[in-house]
Amino acid sequence: MNQENKKLLQQLLDGEFPDSRGRFGIFGGQYAPETLMTALKNLDNKVKTLLTDASFMGELSTELNQWAGRPTALTHAKKLSELWGVEVYLKREDLTHTGAHKINNALGQALIAKKLNAKRVVAETGAGQHGVASAAACARVGIPCVVYMGAIDIERQAPNVDRMRQLGAEVIPVTTGDQTLRAAVDEAFRDWVGSPDDTYYILGSVVGPHPYPYLVRELQSIIGKEAREQIITQAGGLPDAVFACVGGGSNAIGIFHAFLGDESVDLYGVEAGGRGQKLGDNAATLASGKPGILHGTYSMLLHDDDGLVQETHSVSAGLDYPGVGPEHAFLQSIGRVSYTSAEDGEALEQVRECCGLEGILPALESAHAFVGAKKWAEANPSKTVLIGLSGRGDKDMPTLSKLFNN
Ligand SMILES: *Cc1c(COP(=O)(O)O)cnc(C)c1O
Repeated sequence: MNQENKKLLQQLLDGEFPDSRGRFGIFGGQYAPETLMTALKNLDNKVKTLLTDASFMGELSTELNQWAGRPTALTHAKKLSELWGVEVYLKREDLTHTGAHKINNALGQALIAKKLNAKRVVAETGAGQHGVASAAACARVGIPCVVYMGAIDIERQAPNVDRMRQLGAEVIPVTTGDQTLRAAVDEAFRDWVGSPDDTYYILGSVVGPHPYPYLVRELQSIIGKEAREQIITQAGGLPDAVFACVGGGSNAIGIFHAFLGDESVDLYGVEAGGRGQKLGDNAATLASGKPGILHGTYSMLLHDDDGLVQETHSVSAGLDYPGVGPEHAFLQSIGRVSYTSAEDGEALEQVRECCGLEGILPALESAHAFVGAKKWAEANPSKTVLIGLSGRGDKDMPTLSKLFNN
């Protein structure tokens, strides 16, 4: 990193980003219709107050501990360490309630909704993981929850639709646009614009207009705070590298943030390389995208020369998104985090390896981080790597059974 980039990183660490316009350097901001701007402004003010309010943060912490299962374990992966020739540590977000890091965000935002006296909550979901986390958090907090989900996803992810309904949420099929996650986000925003005073929108990743990328990062940064302390205790020092998978980027930002100021720690985000490098065959936004605006934020994006956002592909539904959080675009631009990608087949292989050697079934999303870490290990013998294990793979069983023929 050159001097200028070091200065930009310091500004981030000092809390100067996001700035008053919601920007991380040139990325981020609020690209939203006038009606939504007022709601975003209100949310921004209230979020700042609540996140520095000791009684609110105490309540959140108690719920995280006693309901969501935090702190999660840090596991020394003994057999993977032997095989790869480096010391491998896994931050176990798969052990949280509902099975992935998404609950950290959904619970925090549900509590915020309650504090703002919202009468109902809306959320979007792709594969259904954020929808399930939101439905569970809203039930716990006591607010009705409406989940927008693309009609195509509803068909593909039937078990999660049933889970959401069982938890008391209303699931509304979205038949506009691409009928998947992108359209579901559009519908959730539309709903919120229609009744910004009594409705709260729980956005599922570090994307969307300010203050969401900031809010979701703050709620997910508990992952890295715990992991940093745990690895110092268990391994006797900081890791040499941290790997996390990147869809919208919330689990990655969550684990990276505590390490941003540690110069000796290299940070790597791993995106979905899908079937290969052709536009439309992957969701490797940072690796092969260009800057543009999607869902209210200026960030990296997979779009063609005419600016049309492209369809994406990944075997893991949670990484299948054509955009990425603006803070990741910023961290890439200043060279603090490197972004690579892992293809479908490589991720599937890592699911197998982790299952067989460690007795842990990781989500297909999380397996992308393992692919990156394993490649890094080849060039870094005897070093120490921390991997963000973002969620459990039970939800992927239909995909795995089909592909492995068993
Ligand atoms: C949703 C999901 C992801 C991707 O979302 P991010 O915002 O990039 O973290 C990764 N892993 C799991 C298990 C998920 O459910």
